[in-house]
Amino acid sequence: MPATFRTEAVVLRSIRYGEADRILHLYSRERGRIGAIAKGVRRVKTRFGGRLEPLFRVDLLLHEGRGELHTVTSADTVDAHPSLRERRDALERATQACDAVLRLLDSQEPNRAAYNLLCHELRLLDVEPAAATRAQALAFRLKLLLAAGFAPELAACASCGEREHLGAFSASAGGVVCPGCEAGSFALDRDAYSFLVMALGSPLTETPAASDRALGQADRAIAETLEHHAHIRLRRVAA
Ligand SMILES: [Zn+2]
Repeated sequence: MPATFRTEAVVLRSIRYGEADRILHLYSRERGRIGAIAKGVRRVKTRFGGRLEPLFRVDLLLHEGRGELHTVTSADTVDAHPSLRERRDALERATQACDAVLRLLDSQEPNRAAYNLLCHELRLLDVEPAAATRAQALAFRLKLLLAAGFAPELAACASCGEREHLGAFSASAGGVVCPGCEAGSFALDRDAYSFLVMALGSPLTETPAASDRALGQADRAIAETLEHHAHIRLRRVAA
């Protein structure tokens, strides 16, 4: 293992540590979830400037630590996402996206799909004010489930394989279910089902719109899947 390594990463969380240091939770392109300490960042003349704040996408040089934490040697900004910080709705969605990554992806194995998804989401929220919708936030969460290996079965009944009349969702079964397998499920309207299928299959920029009722059901399907299979509970996506 080299003593120093370079990686691109998104700052998920930044915590004050001591007089002038910060502990960073990072999601990196090359090493998945990593932790790092940035020394002296809170002094006036810091060589890191404001580059190690949450939501920054940065190119880092890190000195390999003996324990959990690496040490930041240098940091260059790839994307600061300046506009999303000025809009409360975008900032809230972006913070929730980082929180979901923080909770769901705790492995030091790289996951390029998850990393790219997070970068796309932050970029989209930064450049497209209309993107900070509940539908878009749910589409991100659904795609993150896919990247993490927990995507629900949507093409056929998750219990028996039946391909029609899939009007309910069961997280314990692993996705949509037919009337014969609907024990422990909740009703999933046709347009909630369509939303899940289309949101999973479309780019983030083409997230379909849906009614509040449909989005509420989609939110529940995603939340119960996260709880049942990934054992995490995220805050529901507010309207
Ligand atoms: Zn079935």
